[in-house]
Amino acid sequence: MKILLATHNKHKLSELLAILPQSTERGEAIEYLSFADFPDIAEPEETGLTLQENAAIKARCGLENTGLISIADDTGLMVDVLNGAPGVFSARYADPNKADYEANNKKLLKELSAYKGAQRSAHFSTVAALAAPNKKIIFTQGKVEGFIIEDYKGTNGFGYDPLFFVAEAGKTMAEMSKEEKNKISHRFRAFKQMSEIIKKL
Ligand code: IMP
Repeated sequence: MKILLATHNKHKLSELLAILPQSTERGEAIEYLSFADFPDIAEPEETGLTLQENAAIKARCGLENTGLISIADDTGLMVDVLNGAPGVFSARYADPNKADYEANNKKLLKELSAYKGAQRSAHFSTVAALAAPNKKIIFTQGKVEGFIIEDYKGTNGFGYDPLFFVAEAGKTMAEMSKEEKNKISHRFRAFKQMSEIIKKL
């Protein structure tokens, strides 16, 4: 069985491949492809106002362009004192025309400069969507709680990882190995549930 992971993001792809099952419950092997295998497919515009809408847009784009069962996710960092920002706009927080991790992190630190300690609470949320021919889209969700620290810590991962201190792990996501992050992350939690659905396909 072939499944398309509807993303161009190499970091995300590598995290997902470490989580998803290699075969179904019936013993059928699963081969995962990504948008890297279909260079002619343009990444769809994420015009949704929720993580769920954007995950569905990406999964539907994969299905419509390839005919393959397609899975996508959308993630947001929700900071409580910023009323949930950057949220669904996490990728282009600093510049609506460009996804720039460094600029996003700088803007986040600036927006939070007046706040200390527990006031900097936040969570990551991931919604995963599975689109299959002639079926309704299936969604799963994962979440991890933490705090935005005042300076970068760690060099692993991507995006907001160096600023996101995971309360239950006692370190930032950028201080975790891929394996550690994959045991507790928002994406892991959403895709663990999705794995159970995939195994039953
Ligand atoms: P996406 O729409 O799922 O690609 O995620 C939106 C943005 O959230 C990304 O561009 C990153 O800035 C950020 N992001 C997503 N997942 C993670 C993560 O696991 N760690 C840190 N930042 C992330």
